[in-house]
Amino acid sequence: MGEKKIDVMGVPWDEKSTFMRGCADAPDKIWNALFSESTNPWAEKGENLSNGKRIFYQGNMNLSSGDSVVGEIQEQASSLMAKDTLPIFLGGDHAVTYPLVRALSHVFPNLNILHFDAHPDLYDTFEGDKYSHACPFARIMEEKRVERLVSVGIRSMTQHLKQQKERFGVEMIDMSRFDPWMTLSFDGPVYLSLDLDVLDPAFAPGVSHHEPGGLTTRELIRVIQSFRGQLVGADIVEYNPYRDVQNVTAMVASKLLKEIAARFLS
Ligand code: MN
Ligand code: MN
Repeated sequence: MGEKKIDVMGVPWDEKSTFMRGCADAPDKIWNALFSESTNPWAEKGENLSNGKRIFYQGNMNLSSGDSVVGEIQEQASSLMAKDTLPIFLGGDHAVTYPLVRALSHVFPNLNILHFDAHPDLYDTFEGDKYSHACPFARIMEEKRVERLVSVGIRSMTQHLKQQKERFGVEMIDMSRFDPWMTLSFDGPVYLSLDLDVLDPAFAPGVSHHEPGGLTTRELIRVIQSFRGQLVGADIVEYNPYRDVQNVTAMVASKLLKEIAARFLS
C-alpha cells in the first residue's frame, strides 16, 4: 500500500444501543490502551505502530444527537477519505457502520465487508428504529452498497434474521461452523467491521451483549492476519468500558487495532 498513513478516528455515538449505553466513551480508552506502558506498539509480524510515524489519532468526530448523526458520521468519514488515507474507526456501537460504509462505498464502489459479530445486525427495524445498532447491515444491503457481506462468528439468530440473510444473500459463517484455519478470500477492496462481542465474553467482557460460545482472541487474530483481499478501511465497535474488567477488553481491542493496522502496512 505504499506510504499512505493510517488515521484512527473515534465515533463516539451510542444512542442506538438497545440494552445499555456506554460505547460512546470507548474510542479514547482503546487508543490509550495501545500505548499502555505494559506493552509496546509493535504488531506480531514486526510492524511498528508507534504514534506519529504511520498511524495517527484524529480524536473523536463532532456529533450532535438524534438521527441527523447518521449524516454527520458519513460526512466526517468522507472528509477523512478525501485525504487518501487508510481509516480505522473506533465506535461507538454498531450503528456507526452504516454511515461509515456509505462513505467508503463512494470511494470503493465494489466494496466487500468482512463482518465479525455474535449477531447478524440485519433487523429491518428494531424497537421501531431503523438506525438501531441491530440494523446496520440491513440498511447497507438494501442500498446495495457492497458486493459481498461475509459475517463470521454469528450465534444469535431468529426467524426474521434468517429471512433477512436469505433476502440479502449474506454469506454467514456461524459459530457452529467456524474453523480458525479457514482462509477467506475477497476480490477487490475489503472493509472490516469488528463487533467485539464476536469474542467469547471470557475474552472480552467489556461489551453490552454477552453472548457465550464465541471466538477466542487468538482465533480472531488468525482470521484477521490470514484473509486474502485488499483492506481499505475498518471499524472496531461495541466496546463498553463500563462492563470491562481491569481494562482487559480495552487491551484486547487495542491489540486487534494493531493487527488490523498491520494489514495496511504489510
Ligand atoms: Mn454488531
Ligand atoms: Mn454483536
